[in-house]
Amino acid sequence: MRILATNDDGIHADGLWCLVEALSEVGEVVVVAPDRDQSGVGTSVTLHQPVRVREIRPPVRGVKCYAIEGTPADSVILALGRLVEDKVDMVFSGINEGPNLGSDVLISGTVSAGLLGYLMGIPATALSVAALERVHFDTAARLAVVIARMIEAQALPQQMLLNINLPNLPLEQIQGVEVTRLGHRTYQDVLKERQYGKRRHFWIVRSKLEWESMESWEPEEGTDMWAVFKNRISITPLHSDLTSPLALSALKQLSNAIFQDLGNPPR
Ligand code: MN
Repeated sequence: MRILATNDDGIHADGLWCLVEALSEVGEVVVVAPDRDQSGVGTSVTLHQPVRVREIRPPVRGVKCYAIEGTPADSVILALGRLVEDKVDMVFSGINEGPNLGSDVLISGTVSAGLLGYLMGIPATALSVAALERVHFDTAARLAVVIARMIEAQALPQQMLLNINLPNLPLEQIQGVEVTRLGHRTYQDVLKERQYGKRRHFWIVRSKLEWESMESWEPEEGTDMWAVFKNRISITPLHSDLTSPLALSALKQLSNAIFQDLGNPPR
């Protein structure tokens, strides 16, 4: 088995190397990851400047390791397009410090790296732990091995993007595994405003999880957020079709009217 490991926290992040160390028992691991923290860049691809690559000495023995001056998506594109010459059997992204739940998957670099693998037909798994400090990576790393073994045994679909979130607990305190759907938003964005000279500027701070800031509020049952809230591991199978069935049927009724209004705009 040949495994591509990447992340969005950057090539020096502890979570990445816990993942790599664990996956090394399943097969040959190649690491291609951003050279610095790229959290929140989503599927961003670098098109307006060259993407520099540096082979670096890995902290885990027997692993090829490339630092990319670019995004997680750049890393996967370079890895699959050039840096890894032989066939890659699976892509793992993470282990991210902090959850990637609900609609945050749309801005998550961790999930986007997996998405790029998925779009190229390779089974992909993104792993995140719901904490920003004193993160328990070990259970997530063990889970990566379990999933990798299932992919190896062809027990899972080839066309697959898994978004996995774990509560930040030691294994013995985790209450189980839930297969979930995406919930809604996770974070409350806080804007911190500063004024320097004539220019205003803002920091967008992703501070609190929704449930940490609201008393007696619970995420909707069956969602990824609910599973983590209940101290369970959440596994959400994703696909890339963002089409809204509801808006699709409403708009289909209107397509002729839209075209007519285009030639003869209503006043
Ligand atoms: Mn991150």
